[in-house]
Amino acid sequence: MSLPKTFQDKPYAAKHFSEIVDYARENNPFYRKWISDPDHVPIINRRIFLENNDEILNGHEASGSTSGSTGVPVRYVHSPQRARLGQRDVDQFVVELGGLLSCARLIYPHNKNPGPEILDIKSPISEQIDFILERRELVGVEAITSYPTNAEMLAREILNRGLDMSFIRRFGLFSENVESHQKQIIGKAFPNAKIWTSYSSMEFGLIASQCQHEPSFHHLMAHRLGVEVLREEVDEPAPVGERGRVVITDYFNRLSPFIRYELGDLAVRGNCPCGKTRLPALEKILGKVRGALVHRNGERVLFADLSVSLVNLPEIRQYQVIQETIEKFTVKVVSPINQDEKIQEAFMAHFGYLPDQLRIEYVEGIEKEKNGKFYASICRVEA
Ligand SMILES: [Zn+2]
Repeated sequence: MSLPKTFQDKPYAAKHFSEIVDYARENNPFYRKWISDPDHVPIINRRIFLENNDEILNGHEASGSTSGSTGVPVRYVHSPQRARLGQRDVDQFVVELGGLLSCARLIYPHNKNPGPEILDIKSPISEQIDFILERRELVGVEAITSYPTNAEMLAREILNRGLDMSFIRRFGLFSENVESHQKQIIGKAFPNAKIWTSYSSMEFGLIASQCQHEPSFHHLMAHRLGVEVLREEVDEPAPVGERGRVVITDYFNRLSPFIRYELGDLAVRGNCPCGKTRLPALEKILGKVRGALVHRNGERVLFADLSVSLVNLPEIRQYQVIQETIEKFTVKVVSPINQDEKIQEAFMAHFGYLPDQLRIEYVEGIEKEKNGKFYASICRVEA
């Protein structure tokens, strides 16, 4: 069997990749057809996965689904054994962080009956603050987990109100890529909190966890997942330091196999200098490709830089950039003062030109999506 290049010189990855490919070709009706030649296992993107989701489930009832932020959710099954393997990684990460703390979780509730520590992410920020204070009274809460965009809004409101959140010792950010300005503002609002990040998704669970020695690096759960970072144009591994597409194989999901599944995220491989673990690392997780905007020349432009210049505008509370077509943008802003000129400057600096139509709307607030997440950029253009 000829393996994807990433796994070729790695005996453990090679063995487990071959095993799941063989298993799926023998037992899964979709993969039997999809992998007609095991020497060339194709990459499956989200669209193809969705089109064949029932066949991939192969009669098993789905045990979970993605949040469906881009439309139809991907459905998957995690067997009890597979779920245990995932939980073991999470437990190990908690140990590395210094053990379990009583936690308030501001997240999308995936279970019908979420525990008392969970508050639906869709709740207004003021309710989230009440919830944290209540949980402090009741159980002495010392930790919070949430998505970075929500955490950022929460932190802003706490700073606006001048609330004392020094009792929070740990703040976890996951499920979206984390930008440095978000970490900064969260650090200000929660001055005693150690901020941790992880890279995860519903279908794979924990993908990489922050290195405890070199916080800008995330170590991959390579014992459970085969993670490839491939160049954007060709299916070749991206060199260390170069941005590429994240493609994942779950070695242990036999009920609904994910084999070379393109998650839709961009990341950069790196060599973590900690020397404490042999697990490979990512030096940057750039997150969803869908957050990227499209330049006139057809190239994808990551939103992060534009985002940094917008967030630093004086008195800006919240913003969202929506790209409808190559030349048509709407920027929604929550701001007591006019920001037109500054926003145009930011676009000029980011793109090198002003789009033909750049509409700036001043609004009271910006709605979250159905899944409770807030997207600072939405791109409706296919690059
Ligand atoms: Zn490390």
